Amino acid sequence: MATDSAPTQAGSLLGLMQDDYPLTIKYILDRARTVNGRATVASFDGEGLTRATYREVGDRVDRLCGALTTLGVQPGDRVATFMWNRQEHLEAYLGIPSMGAVLHTLNLRLFPEQLQYIVEHAQDRVVIIEDTLVPLLAPAVAELGIVEHFIVVGDGPVEGLTGQVHRYEELLAAAPESFAYPEIADDRTAAALCYTSGTTGNPKGVLYSHRSTVLHAVGECMADTFGICGRDTVLPVVPMFHANAWGLPYSSTLTGANLVMPGKFLQAEPLAKLITGERVTVAAGVPTIWLDLLRYADEYRPDLSSLRVVPCGGAAVPRVLLEGFRERHGLNVVQAWGMTETSPLGAVAHAPHDVDEAAAAEFRLRAGQVSPLVDVRIVDAEGEPMAWDGEASGEVEVRGPWIASRYYEDPTGDDKFHDGWLRTGDVASIDDRGYIRITDRSKDVIKSGGEWISSVDLENELMGHPDVLEAAVIAKPDERWTERPLACVVVRPGSDTDAEALAAYLSGRVAKWWEPDEYVLIPEVPKTSVGKFDKKALRARLESGELRGAAGDQS
Ligand code: ADP
Repeated sequence: MATDSAPTQAGSLLGLMQDDYPLTIKYILDRARTVNGRATVASFDGEGLTRATYREVGDRVDRLCGALTTLGVQPGDRVATFMWNRQEHLEAYLGIPSMGAVLHTLNLRLFPEQLQYIVEHAQDRVVIIEDTLVPLLAPAVAELGIVEHFIVVGDGPVEGLTGQVHRYEELLAAAPESFAYPEIADDRTAAALCYTSGTTGNPKGVLYSHRSTVLHAVGECMADTFGICGRDTVLPVVPMFHANAWGLPYSSTLTGANLVMPGKFLQAEPLAKLITGERVTVAAGVPTIWLDLLRYADEYRPDLSSLRVVPCGGAAVPRVLLEGFRERHGLNVVQAWGMTETSPLGAVAHAPHDVDEAAAAEFRLRAGQVSPLVDVRIVDAEGEPMAWDGEASGEVEVRGPWIASRYYEDPTGDDKFHDGWLRTGDVASIDDRGYIRITDRSKDVIKSGGEWISSVDLENELMGHPDVLEAAVIAKPDERWTERPLACVVVRPGSDTDAEALAAYLSGRVAKWWEPDEYVLIPEVPKTSVGKFDKKALRARLESGELRGAAGDQS
């Protein structure tokens, strides 16, 4: 009997589905402007909101692609963005990959030397830049001579930009109304490029494909992750240059969720007003942002009742944050874990349904349950997989359809990959339901007397003190024990909490040998370019003798 299905390996048949139907960002663009054409993106400029429907955005994307083609952009070329979260950034997200080029999101909080390195490494031919940010980028790239065109969003001054300078709106107005998109038959084609923030060594480029981006967007729509859907209004507080704003621009346009773009206004007050005014249902950002909002909410009681989920990740989420929002404001802050290399969705910490509230609270404190389609394991120092017993602790490795397989043009990063798995540098245990409990990043872990002390756990406990605003614990070299914990603590202004009080507070809450030997009160914990505690900077201060504390051990 004739059959269309060819046998593959012994005894198996190939399926007869349209498996070569490409998963592309062009599909998301088409769906955004048709099925989801009435959904809106609202951009905040400090005073008011500018709104556009996804249908209007789609029309502008056509013009953007036409304009970029006129400037000579070819498939595969890198087109960078240097913008806060706003409508034009969404247009770049949808348009640049759809025309076959590569969207490169530049992190505007990086130092000039890092920006210079990245622009040169990526060979960005065009940069779309917000006018107010010109002074940040111009000095970094002026001498490189790599960027041929700057497209400036807004009417502000453009001094210092070299190459040809255009105004975004003028280019769009002059561009043809429609654009003939190339067919992207192979969905493994590169779509976007994002560099890790380079906390160790030079930044490394993660090159996302169309397929990985679409699958990741779908992953975000599952109820067990963030459940993004057409009834949502999503506020990505996480910048679009930080791990693709966690994929929210794509999952929102795919489903028809409205987007609210906060621009550079990431302080508690404007965020609270946006949430109240726009009836935001999903607001996502790093813990620092939500710690500020929690303090603001405790004092001013804004109406945050529209929020159904507040995804929070990028760094360990302190207990005070999770429980403060839940208990005092009835809000569901959900911890998530991921990296630039994982697109970034890797794990989400919803509590299981079959445990009591006390146990649920502990599950929410974990980095999360490994997300569907992502594969995780922990390995020992020899790279051997370890048990999922919730006890054994090793380095987390991940693989899956939206996990990086190597870095862009960077063989020095090869040691981050192991047998087809990405090595994360995070140290964790995993339980039998796939919940990951991160104790540290391997470079932050404190090795004392041959045992490991979790800086994350110590920080969590310290931040539970009512007068502590921020706490970061680092290793201090110690002759006897190799390393001992040193706690850098920010206390509420006017509070008289000192080292002695902190030591007394921790006593009994953690093992005696975990208690920090020293406490340093500092005005603020330094932050990285994506708003995380910068322990590398603290370690440098310690080394230069700048951090001197008081002994906490009163015994
Ligand atoms: P960078 O490595 O420059 O900080 P990423 O933003 O990609 O850039 O950071 C990824 C890292 O952030 C992870 O490897 C992990 O150490 C940390 N991280 C992310 N989410 C969490 C979380 N929920 N708990 C603990 N650590 C987290």
